Amino acid sequence: MSIKIDGLQKSYRSFQALKNIDLHIGTGLFGLLGPNGAGKSTLMKILSTILPFDKGSVTIYDHHLVKEGDKVRQLLGYLPQHFNVPTQFTGKEFLHYVASMKGVTNQQERNSQVEKLLEEVNLAAQANKKIKGYSGGMKRRLGIAQALIGNPKLIILDEPTAGLDPSERIRFRNLIEKLSKDHSIILSTHIISDIESSCENVAVINHGEVLFKGSTEALAEKAINVVWELTVPFSEYDQVEREYVIISSRKEKDQVVFRIISKEKPQGEVSPIQPTIEDGYMAVINGVTA
Ligand code: ADP
Ligand code: MG
Repeated sequence: MSIKIDGLQKSYRSFQALKNIDLHIGTGLFGLLGPNGAGKSTLMKILSTILPFDKGSVTIYDHHLVKEGDKVRQLLGYLPQHFNVPTQFTGKEFLHYVASMKGVTNQQERNSQVEKLLEEVNLAAQANKKIKGYSGGMKRRLGIAQALIGNPKLIILDEPTAGLDPSERIRFRNLIEKLSKDHSIILSTHIISDIESSCENVAVINHGEVLFKGSTEALAEKAINVVWELTVPFSEYDQVEREYVIISSRKEKDQVVFRIISKEKPQGEVSPIQPTIEDGYMAVINGVTA
């Protein structure tokens, strides 16, 4: 196990952001799923040692998160959700700066790490340009690069695909997939397709609680017998929207085909369907599971 979290609790004043988190995370790519406000960033900040917690125990590669904070920090790289880079730097200058902060003081060693990382995140051609001219995707890739300095065993990425356009998102996913071959990565997101192709294990959290942990297949199975395709005339759109948890809908002539979650078989023209990971996620979040 790379991370062991037991009985973790965290409050902001009287608001309980993490209620009682138990999670054991192995190697490879692990997805932390949950809607906005679920507690993902709070958990990731705690794992990165930048936020103290109230109760429970956390170890990272058998190191006590609090007592051995320095050791833990050497093992991990972190990309915060709100990652602000000083835009007057060039990408290369910024990576050199982060590397010195992380204790890579040998000039030669630093040069070689920075060059390698710029290649790895596909920014070598823009390395000497100022960050203020970078696109959102380029900034995110620079964010990954800074998290990789010092070759950490564990990489923590908090919503790394937020704000990326579709092609940047695909490029980003490929990079993550490549990195997951020789690093442990925890990635938080509320976009299921970010993890669909490459994560084996996920946890779903909401309101500071773990609602599900297991494989992506097991998550999809949570929606067996509760996900339906329901076809109604367009005039009944509002009624369906009021009655069911809707995953998606599409228009077909003057009818609407909804993909919905419901414990009972809905009235009307319905067919049961094979659930996807997203269906399982929606079922778990809405408390409507098989
Ligand atoms: P997520 O990353 O899943 O969107 P967060 O961990 O950022 O969730 O937030 C979880 C909850 O804690 C939210 O309700 C949020 O408003 C609250 N919260 C986060 N940070 C603070 C803070 N510094 N002070 C008070 N409440 C906070
Ligand atoms: Mg967040």
